[in-house]
Amino acid sequence: MKDLLEQNYHKITATLPAHVQLVAVSKTHPAEEILEVYHLGQRLFGENKVQELVAKYETLPKDIRWHLIGHLQTNKVKYIAPFVDMIESVDSGKLLREIDRQAEKNHRNISVLLQVKIAEEDTKTGMEISETKELFQQYLEGAFPHITVKGLMGMATFTTDQEQIRREFSFLKTFYDRLSQTHPLEILSIGMSDDYPVAIDCGANNVRVGSAIFGKRNYPA
Ligand SMILES: *Cc1c(COP(=O)(O)O)cnc(C)c1O
Repeated sequence: MKDLLEQNYHKITATLPAHVQLVAVSKTHPAEEILEVYHLGQRLFGENKVQELVAKYETLPKDIRWHLIGHLQTNKVKYIAPFVDMIESVDSGKLLREIDRQAEKNHRNISVLLQVKIAEEDTKTGMEISETKELFQQYLEGAFPHITVKGLMGMATFTTDQEQIRREFSFLKTFYDRLSQTHPLEILSIGMSDDYPVAIDCGANNVRVGSAIFGKRNYPA
């Protein structure tokens, strides 16, 4: 088990360009496995559920940076606001407002990404372009003083059609570049285990890789 994790991890990190940040998505995997990857040098991990994230935060080394990558309910922001490094999955103004409120309470500034719907299928979450633009404009006007919008996140359609995936990623990159002209952005988070090389090709500098490191999950999450 240990050897496999190590092989997987090194295979991925060996091919990642220097400007691309790897979020090791550890959802559903136990603390011991996270610790193995930690000892290989990884410090940035991603989780999609608040309860699981909090439990892992409490037991694992404190120099781990945690990204929340799954849908976040407003009433749960308070549990992660004290420590979360970044919330990648902001999908409404209501949520952004609550993150801002909790950040202030914790005397912090919390970094976030706005999640944009890019998948042609409609099961994937995220905001429409128009809503994202509006929210970003409100942010630029000072509506969320305890938040830093670092960039955008997106998830492609679950398909083996590489051209469709490329189209969806390129669409987000174009929008990212356009927003960057009004205000500099740093992070474009696209790409998972099956499509991160395509995402990097399309301009990703933050990839969220789970099963290619930790192996298949026992249940879909
Ligand atoms: C689970 C998940 C990932 C990682 O998926 P893999 O296919 O296991 O790499 C990336 N992003 C989000 C939002 C996820 O929920």
